[in-house]
Amino acid sequence: MIPAVMPTYARADLAFERGEGCWLVGTDGKRYLDFGSGVAVTALGHAHPHLVAALKSQAEKLWHCSNLYRIPGQEKLAERLVAHSFADTAFFCNSGAEAMEAAIKMARKYHDETGNPGRYRIVTTEGAFHGRTLATIAAGGQEKHLKGFEPAVDGFDQVPFGNLNALRAGIGAQTAAILLEPIQGEGGIRPLDIDYLKGARAAADEFGLLLIFDEVQCGMGRTGKLFAHEWAGVTPDIMGLAKGLGGGFPVGACLASEKAAIGMTAGSHGSTFGGNPLAMAVANAVLDVMLEPGFLAGVEMRGRLLKRRLEEAVAPHPNLVRGVRGNGMMLGLVCQAPNGEIQMALLDQGLITILAGDNVVRILPPLIVGEREIEDGADRVGRALKTLAAS
Ligand SMILES: *Cc1c(COP(=O)(O)O)cnc(C)c1O
Repeated sequence: MIPAVMPTYARADLAFERGEGCWLVGTDGKRYLDFGSGVAVTALGHAHPHLVAALKSQAEKLWHCSNLYRIPGQEKLAERLVAHSFADTAFFCNSGAEAMEAAIKMARKYHDETGNPGRYRIVTTEGAFHGRTLATIAAGGQEKHLKGFEPAVDGFDQVPFGNLNALRAGIGAQTAAILLEPIQGEGGIRPLDIDYLKGARAAADEFGLLLIFDEVQCGMGRTGKLFAHEWAGVTPDIMGLAKGLGGGFPVGACLASEKAAIGMTAGSHGSTFGGNPLAMAVANAVLDVMLEPGFLAGVEMRGRLLKRRLEEAVAPHPNLVRGVRGNGMMLGLVCQAPNGEIQMALLDQGLITILAGDNVVRILPPLIVGEREIEDGADRVGRALKTLAAS
């Protein structure tokens, strides 16, 4: 018999009653160190007092009024995101997939508006993940997400990962944009190198294309910069955000330059819930914390410590975990043994992690993770691998 909750997830038999900072408390009463952050979402940990206060205070005033009216919290968040990025304007939605849908639509609209309506195709890379709507599974191009949902939405051309010649070869007369995750998340914490991102920018400029970055996972401070592309000194024309943006409250955003957003006039796109007052209050509170002087530098510094400690923990067990890759608080254990077995062993030690493609276990702690919890987490990794090795 089908469960009342549609079984689209292979869920762990584990539920949580509450969270406190980096910790989750299970309904079994056990405490778990949360190095998954609900897939890079709870960027400031659980029950952060500033976020709780912002949500409570907004909850007593106004939940929803629709985008038929001005929403002051939206204006404030948009102005702050614009001030701290390449972008001139922001569209708010509720999820990463919606942010990427907006990005895809905007790229098509840009060319339609500028006299090239035939340019609608978007070049994406192997291993990509952009969401689970019809267009975003086509953009991701992964067989496991597309199978049975054919016909795939037309307009996406996938090229091998990390190869600039292949990227350039994938560009044709109908290409509208290049879409990249600066660091692939679901694909297995696979960073694109700085030269590749620079080359993608140059190719976009050379062929009159828009460059879209999907920073739904790697953005919002996760790598120790507000946006991962800042490490490369390259800016996109359009960028999708979600996951960490609301610190656990569902919210997404599609940021764009004025040029890229030329076609996004009244009536061109919309969302009933997008940017509602509750989401905006929490996202503004998240930014309050992330923009505090020293916050991002702290993420970078502690991210380095975490990577070093993890490298030390996995080093004695190369037949289980080959190494650690990634940046800041977006790290991956590159597994030799099946990643599911490694993840189970970590869970047995009370450490929560997230699986990814390329046989990787993702380590995505809240950005507020302290040195004590970093040492604790790395010790748990060491113990889990030791136990696995002995079994
Ligand atoms: C999670 C994710 C998405 C999709 O976000 P949803 O909120 O699940 O729709 C898109 N792109 C990237 C890079 C992601 O990690």
